[in-house]
Amino acid sequence: CGVFGVTGVTDAANFVALGMHALQHRGQEAGGIVSHDPAHGFNSARRFGYVRDNFTKASLMETLPGSLSIGHVRYSTAGSKGNTQIRDVQPFFGEFSAGGAAIAHNGNITNAEALRRELIERGSIFQSSSDSECIIHLMARSLQRQVPERMKDALRRVEGAFSIVAMTRTKLIGVRDPLGVRPLVLGRIGEDGWALSSETCALDIIGAEFVREIEPGEMVVIENGEVASHRPFQPARPRFCIFEHVYFSRPDSILGGRSVYETRRQIGVELAREAPVDADIVCPVPDSGTPAAIGYSQESGIPYAMGIIRNQYMGRTFIEPTEQIRNMGVRLKLNVNRALIRGKRVILVDDSVVRGTTSRKIKEMILDAGAKEVHFRIASPPTSWPCFYGVDTPQREKLLAATMTEDEMCSHLGVDSLRFITLDGLYRAVGEANGRDPHAPQYCDACFSGEYPVEPADQIEKGFAL
Ligand code: 5GP
Ligand code: SF4
Ligand code: MG
Repeated sequence: CGVFGVTGVTDAANFVALGMHALQHRGQEAGGIVSHDPAHGFNSARRFGYVRDNFTKASLMETLPGSLSIGHVRYSTAGSKGNTQIRDVQPFFGEFSAGGAAIAHNGNITNAEALRRELIERGSIFQSSSDSECIIHLMARSLQRQVPERMKDALRRVEGAFSIVAMTRTKLIGVRDPLGVRPLVLGRIGEDGWALSSETCALDIIGAEFVREIEPGEMVVIENGEVASHRPFQPARPRFCIFEHVYFSRPDSILGGRSVYETRRQIGVELAREAPVDADIVCPVPDSGTPAAIGYSQESGIPYAMGIIRNQYMGRTFIEPTEQIRNMGVRLKLNVNRALIRGKRVILVDDSVVRGTTSRKIKEMILDAGAKEVHFRIASPPTSWPCFYGVDTPQREKLLAATMTEDEMCSHLGVDSLRFITLDGLYRAVGEANGRDPHAPQYCDACFSGEYPVEPADQIEKGFAL
């Protein structure tokens, strides 16, 4: 998901809609905005579909007045997965004795089901199936008066990944979980305006200046143009999601002081060193494989070419939740540039292999177009474990790499060769010169290593074996 908020600007909801538009790659199922102004109080709108199809209508935006506003773009990983109901669309809103608050959450709460059971037993009335709603109920039960203090109480009981943008009548609040699994940044706009965003690319769109990242375990409370920093949690060693660098974030964003584009290009350089092969052209599987393909081509000296053309009017295939749509999706989205491919030995670079649906289809399309050889180079290690922290990977059984070796995957996909970047190579590309520290990994890489930095309690209860 993507979260965004602004304060201290006229018609804040317009800025939020723009920010959400720039974060659309983080969630395309639905979006919601909450705003507040003294005359009308809190207002909210939740809609299915793209930001551009909903939140640009003047009639709708007029219902969201005020200088303080937050928004959320949804990609379901918990709750009604693949079957989003409007009641699951964030931001969630709650009215407490200290006044109302709205929250927008990116990440996944790993003990949400246990918390929900406990809360329902104690009388909470849940409206949605979303894991994020627990936070509002925990806040309602806190004995603290002020909303930020209630939120601290609530979040100390929550496990897993959360980057949250929240608001009260007067405050904009941002929080990251102690490990800082999902991103969140602070920006400055105009004289005394501030913005919080999942990624820096959404600051650019509203002309805000990137100030800094919210630190893992930090809460910022912004009021009257001032930013106050709090540390509500026990300090921990950060474990940012390494897959944000590989795929999830936009290449024009800055993560951990590094350009995402540059990191991805460097992944391609590492791949070319680790897994060279003689071929005529290097083609990306667009768009997610493009920067890595550029790096691979630069390092190997094999010319870069656009062998696959992407229809710009399709979203991210993976994020379309049902199997059927996903199967068609590849063809709806990608087509082979036949004239270029015929008779060539082709290196295809993609960011990841999950179920193998994309790679299989693409291989068929490329061979059908007359390629002589097809070599897959993948910009992440084999995805052999599900993510429980906010990225929608399927159950373990459906992950190709969970049941097959690299050689078996190669013959299953029917390609001439298949190589993944190593975990150390990936760490080098994100700037860790000595690779991964096996005793204290610098990132979360559970989907590749199976080492989960936060125990997935709900999953273990349901029988998931580590
Ligand atoms: P597959 O077709 O193998 O199931 O999925 C791989 C494709 O899904 C890649 O092209 C990648 O760009 C895309 N993808 C989108 N979202 C995700 C995600 O959350 N995890 C992974 N590993 N790949 C994703
Ligand atoms: Fe990111 Fe993978 Fe960790 Fe999920 S399991 S947070 S996708 S690195
Ligand atoms: Mg892709």
